[in-house]
Amino acid sequence: MKCERCLNENPLYFYEGTRGIYCRRCIHLGGHQVESLLEIDVKDEYATMPFELSEDQKRVSKLIAKKGLNENVLVEAVCGAGKTELVIELIEKAFSQKLHVGWMIARRQVVLQLAQRLESIFVDQKVIAVCEGYTDVLEGHLVLLTAHQLYRYPQKFDVLIVDEPDAFPFKNNDLLNDLAKVACKNTKIYLTATPDSTLINSNVYHVFLHRRPHQRDLVVPQVIITWKWCQYLILIVYLFRIYKDERVLIFVPTIRLAKRLSTWLRLPMITSQSENQQDVLLDFDRNDKGKLITTTILERGMTFEEVYVIVIESNHSVFDEASLVQISGRVGRSFEKEKGECIFLGSKKSQAIQKCLQRLRHHNSV
Ligand SMILES: [Zn+2]
Repeated sequence: MKCERCLNENPLYFYEGTRGIYCRRCIHLGGHQVESLLEIDVKDEYATMPFELSEDQKRVSKLIAKKGLNENVLVEAVCGAGKTELVIELIEKAFSQKLHVGWMIARRQVVLQLAQRLESIFVDQKVIAVCEGYTDVLEGHLVLLTAHQLYRYPQKFDVLIVDEPDAFPFKNNDLLNDLAKVACKNTKIYLTATPDSTLINSNVYHVFLHRRPHQRDLVVPQVIITWKWCQYLILIVYLFRIYKDERVLIFVPTIRLAKRLSTWLRLPMITSQSENQQDVLLDFDRNDKGKLITTTILERGMTFEEVYVIVIESNHSVFDEASLVQISGRVGRSFEKEKGECIFLGSKKSQAIQKCLQRLRHHNSV
């Protein structure tokens, strides 16, 4: 026996109710499922790009468009390389063949932001965002959605773009990965700066984008290994002396530490438990000398101009290689201004730190 919705074959999950057999693995996903998506008209052009791509982006974009309708593609693009722009050409090609594209994104906030951006690129198409709080409209030409909404689209997407497969909650989540399999009819396009070895060794065509559009090297973190208490002394020197006039993000491994440090240094903080997340982010974004304590919640998705980054206890196990690469990727993203540094403070040089440095140096050397 197999559940059509989530591919479950484990008999322990099935039970017989009054109205038939249920699957307990996916029964909590009990919303409306889509019968059919909007039909796509054949046109010469679908997208209006707001700016021109760099030569590197053009090359990768062409490759993805060429391969992406026939085989799975892994796009490994460094943080800040502009991975959204890389799949526009592929989406156009899919549209011209009346094929539907779904775009799965880990975070709800990013689904909403990206939908707005894509609306201005695909002006004549119906671009919709489907996530918690936005489930009234389910039929569109291009669907952006969180992983938990995938079950609404069984076999509906000819191409499924999986944005950051290594991010929570998709990473290592068997149910969500199975839902993606059910939703996707043909090919998957993975977009990430930090693919894990399972993905790299799976059956994918692997393309790289090693440089950001501004062509400068990625910022390689400066690693300072010292006693724990000494890390905090160094932090204070940087925050109130060296980076006094800069915008600084301070990453800490746990919510508890974020709270303690915030009280001690009298600085604002943001964690997954903060109720005023939007206000805190807005304040930080507006203040070019702002300081903000954060957990890994800000490791990806958000871009701040000319930001400096300090990681406390960077050898802690929550900071794996992908996390550290993403954190250091917050720095140096501005097109015009070359500004920003990254410091890892730790009591030893963990394997994750070493791998992170190796990966960044490798990108810079290509
Ligand atoms: Zn199921």
